Formats: sequence, structure tokens, C-alpha cells
Amino acid sequence: MVPQLLLPTDSIVHPDKDLFLHEENPFEAMMSRFDRAAELLDLEPVIYNVLGHPEKQIITSVPVMMDNGDIEVFTGIRVLYNTSRGPAKGGIRFDKNVTLDEVTALAAWMTWKCAVVNIPFGGAKGGVICDPLQMSVGELERLTRRYTASIIQTLGPDSDVPAPDVNTNERVMAWIMDTYSMHMRHTVTAVVTGKPIEMGGSQGRREATGRGCTIVTKAALAHLGMAVKATTVAIQGFGNVGSVAAQLLQREGCRVVAISDRTGAVYNPKGIDIDDAIAWVQGRKTLDAYPRGDHITNDALLTLDVDVLVPAALENVITTKNAAHIRAKIICEGANGPTTAAADPVLDEKGIFVIPDILANAGGVTVSYFEWVQDREGYFWTEQRVNEALHEIMERSFAAVLELSRQHKVNMRTAAYMLAISRVATVHRLRGIYA
Ligand code: NAD
Repeated sequence: MVPQLLLPTDSIVHPDKDLFLHEENPFEAMMSRFDRAAELLDLEPVIYNVLGHPEKQIITSVPVMMDNGDIEVFTGIRVLYNTSRGPAKGGIRFDKNVTLDEVTALAAWMTWKCAVVNIPFGGAKGGVICDPLQMSVGELERLTRRYTASIIQTLGPDSDVPAPDVNTNERVMAWIMDTYSMHMRHTVTAVVTGKPIEMGGSQGRREATGRGCTIVTKAALAHLGMAVKATTVAIQGFGNVGSVAAQLLQREGCRVVAISDRTGAVYNPKGIDIDDAIAWVQGRKTLDAYPRGDHITNDALLTLDVDVLVPAALENVITTKNAAHIRAKIICEGANGPTTAAADPVLDEKGIFVIPDILANAGGVTVSYFEWVQDREGYFWTEQRVNEALHEIMERSFAAVLELSRQHKVNMRTAAYMLAISRVATVHRLRGIYA
């Protein structure tokens, strides 16, 4: 029996998981942070030029037989941003708003993220422009398989390893793995990560991103001399990342006073029982009408007087419009790109300690790396071993970024970019540019 493969459609798709970057061009937002770090590193023009461009961008037509017998042609994208440190790694999203710019920026972010935690991967991202909510499970399966076939030359455990992203999940990964394996004429589990455990997935992958957020939040509290036990926390987004981070932070002794989802936020200054809230959401899908707290807006949650704010839902929620009103001492960016580049200096001015996304949410790709390692060695780890290895990598990466931020007197985001870019640049220098 393979229960994970029999999920209903509504558990496949998260239409509002992370919205299209509408306030800033995503590639320009990435480049503005990249430029600052490159300048501080005094990056030579050749390396700057190479790292400022994606290695490969594939745009492909994806014909799909719809349930009514028509053939509809979708557009699929896969961008390999940089593979100097190892196979490209990055998710595939199914979304109406996928653009080449967005996928390229996300592929660059994956490159920096893998380098920050020093795992041997490059960065990639993919997407298909479609509205998965309007499609049947059969149509989604055919779309996935045809898209996989269209990009099959880039895929492979040694070249390009996708993972779930917006509106894709372990079931979609199982279809990709199967399609790739059919073409290769043998089973290749290591071609994707985020698979069902029954077919080569890793223990601890589901919790990995939230667990990583918890580890770096604790490290930040220790750095700032704040006691974990007295810490108050507000978390935006109560999905995979937010709910796990809330649960683990509470287990560590923090008081989680606010949580939210797309329907709004719940605030209880005495602390919310996170296990109870998770059970509520499992039964009723949303926090709407959750009885044990006051209902406030998502905007109000962001500016609560708390010690730690964890944006774990969407991109571009901390902007120049609200950054000046944020009162948290620490922001742990569970989501990708929750802070606009323009808001960074406002947070700096206020002395807020920001754990940037490419470090804070790197727990997910780190355990994806463990999954790839386990698939390749054909030997599967216990959850305890996965969690211990994750712990070690997250703590070591936090310390490395903090050290660089002290050395160069820059914020943690710039330091994380500096660390990532210098690691990728070093490999380019060692390998030489094939020009
Ligand atoms: P998810 O779909 O499981 O959960 C998203 C949550 O955000 C849901 O509770 C949803 O209701 C809520 N939400 C949606 N719109 C909202 C709004 N306007 N205001 C407040 N909340 C809203 O997604 P996830 O996997 O938890 O991912 C969350 C973020 O973390 C995304 O930016 C994702 O790219 C990033 N991320 C996820 C992982 C991972 O392993 N899942 C890894 C790295 C980064």
C-alpha cells in the first residue's frame, strides 16, 4: 500500500503558498543583494560576470492530453543557475504566475543557499505555467510526466535533482522519478528528493525546514544573550514550515503568542497550545474560527511586540511600508524572500537581527541532500541520525555567517551572500573558466 500516492487533489495544491513577486522584479532583488556582497568581496569582473548569469535556461512546450480529449500545450521552464559545486538542486512549481525571471532568481537563491550550508550542490528551479486547481489528478500526472520527458537531458542524480515547490509534492516527485526511471530503463531514486519514504524518501524531510528555523533561532537567541524560555514568538504561515517551527520552538520553551494562515491570525499573549492548533487545522483546514485566542490580521501579526518573528508563508511581506513598525528583535526568514531588498536598511536601522532565508530555511535542502546521499548509498538513516546531522550543519553555518558578519561589520544577509558567493567563486577559480 502506498498511502502517500493516494492523496486527494486538495492536498496536492496550495494555490496561495507563495505569491508571485509583485513588488520587486525577483531577479533584480536577488542581484541587488548579490552586488553588495560582490563589492565587499572585491569579486573580480570575470567571476562577477559568470555568477551574474544563469548557466542554462530551458523553455519547453509541454503538450498534455486533457480529460476531455483536447491537447493543451503548457509552457515549462527549468533554469540551472550554477553547477560548479555539484548537481543542480531546486524545486519545481506548478503555478499560473511562473515566469522566467522568477524561476531564474529562485535558481540563483538555491545556488547561494546550498553554498551557505556547504552542501555539494548547485542551484536550479523549474516551473510549469498552469493552474493546478483547475486540473484533475490525471491531467496533473500527464503534465508532470511530459514536462519530465521534455527536460530529461538535464535531469539526473549527477546533473539536476528537482524537489517539490509551490503546488507540487511527494506524489509529483514519485511521478518524476518513475518517468525518469522508465526512460533510463532502471529505477533511479536519486533523481528527485522529497519523495515518499516508501520509495527512497528520507526520514525527517517533512520537518526539516521548520527544524532548521528552530536551530538557527536558538543560535541567534544565544548570540544576543536572550533566554529561550522567556522568548515570545509570532509566526506567519501555519503550513509545513510555520507549524513545525511553532511546535519545536514551543517544545524548547518559547511562548508562541501568534500564528496565522491565509484566513488571518490568532493572538494569545499567554501562549497558544501549538499541538492543539495543529490538531484544529488538521480537522478544519484553517485557523479561521480557532477559539483559543483573539483574531487579528496578518499585517497586525507582523508588528506585534514579540522577541522573534518568523515569516513562514509568502514572499514580500516585510516591505518599506511596514518595516519601520516591526518590533521583533529577531526575524527568522522561514519563507523564501519574505523581506524586500528595500526594507533591509530599515530593519538594520532598527537593529533587528535578521536570519536571512538562504540560511534560515536551508534545513529543507540540507535534508534533501541527505536523501540524495541515502539513495545513492542504498542505505537509509534513522530519523535521529538525520536530525543530528541537520543540527550540526545548521549550527556550523550560522556560526560561519555570524563570524563573517562580525569581521566585515555587515548584517547577516550580506554575510550569508558573501559566504555563499565566495564559496562558489573559489570553485570557479580552482576549476578555471572554460572560455
Ligand atoms: P505551505 O503551503 O505548507 O504553508 C503555507 C502557509 O502560509 C499556509 O498556512 C497558508 O495558509 C499560509 N498563507 C498563505 N497565504 C497567506 C497570507 N497571505 N498570510 C498569511 N499566511 C498565509 O508552505 P510551506 O512549505 O510551509 O512554505 C512556506 C514558505 O517557506 C514558502 O515561501 C516556501 O517557499 C518556503 N520554504 C519551504 C520549504 C519547505 O521545505 N517546505 C523549504 C524552504 C523554503
